[in-house]
Amino acid sequence: MAHVKLHIPGPVEVSEKTFRAFCQPMIGHRGQGFKDLYARIQPRLQALLSTKQLVFLSTSSAWGVMEGALRNLVTKKVLNCMCGAFSDKWYDVARRCGKDAEPLQVPWGSPIRAEAVDAKLATGQFDALTFIHNETSTGVMSPLAEIAALKAKYPDVMFIVDCVSSLTAVPVEFDKLGVDVVLAGTQKALALPPGMCLFVCSPAALAKAATVKDRGYYFDFVEFQKNAEQNMTPSTPSIAHVYALDSKLEDIFTEGLAARYARHAQLAQMTRAWAARHGFTLFPEAGFESHTLTCVNNGARPGGRVINVPEFQKRVKDRGFLIDGGYGKIKGTTFRISNMGDETEATMKALFAAMDEALQGL
Ligand SMILES: *Cc1c(COP(=O)(O)O)cnc(C)c1O
Repeated sequence: MAHVKLHIPGPVEVSEKTFRAFCQPMIGHRGQGFKDLYARIQPRLQALLSTKQLVFLSTSSAWGVMEGALRNLVTKKVLNCMCGAFSDKWYDVARRCGKDAEPLQVPWGSPIRAEAVDAKLATGQFDALTFIHNETSTGVMSPLAEIAALKAKYPDVMFIVDCVSSLTAVPVEFDKLGVDVVLAGTQKALALPPGMCLFVCSPAALAKAATVKDRGYYFDFVEFQKNAEQNMTPSTPSIAHVYALDSKLEDIFTEGLAARYARHAQLAQMTRAWAARHGFTLFPEAGFESHTLTCVNNGARPGGRVINVPEFQKRVKDRGFLIDGGYGKIKGTTFRISNMGDETEATMKALFAAMDEALQGL
């Protein structure tokens, strides 16, 4: 069966080069070959995240580390900043882990604002917060730097930040931001197969984790640090992902970070222009649109054109591309188009041409 090219916001299309790297022969994960591989990618991961801290590799999807961060760092109460399906779910996960948790909920489509976070933290009840930089379900990018700036005012609160669908598409300077955890899954802007999560912890996060008794084993941040110091992971990793990451980092630094960020911004802008050209409005509040995906309004809010999304998706798929029909409670009343990973002006134009045809008569 012919491959349908992925333009859903994860997993995204994986290049031939990445797949070739992924499919190299296995090596032992305690041997020198693996340590050399890990040591080779570490400086580039640190450059990507602008950090002196060691970057950890978890064989799990992002949720593993999202849950792990709660188990490692929350002893009092966590503030869950909620603005869409993923950030809402993090509150649910905190409660499932038995943590005392409180929502800071804004309507889907709105960003999380620093003032609201400040007001909650000022109560002194919290020792951690969860925040999603780019809410993939709504296409909203919240102001990470403004929220991270609050860390100076609340140094004892652990700032846990999900950059799953923004890392490598938008600058995320870990040390400068001063937050405690940044994590990102591999199947979004990194354009690797799903199944691995990168993350980095502040010295304060590692020190706090070391005092927390029921943090478990698989996602124990202290174990990650101890092993990373030896260029290893606590348990057997997906070695194929590490090969693929090595190859992807080569691509990223050949292109250059600034060029990669500019490319994502430009392709997202092109997608918004496509939507406007066809009479659609956008779901996110103006000024907070994501650089990695576009969430198009299709009746979720007043204004703009409304179409039959499943029919549109089907017609686009018949032309070789998979787009997303909306997530959770905004399924069908929005649809989403990803431009993250390896996309270019030419590949986006090919998608737009298919969508132009598919829209006719809808
Ligand atoms: C995809 C996504 C996740 C969840 O990732 P999994 O790979 O399914 O664990 C979490 N947060 C954001 C922002 C995402 O886009």
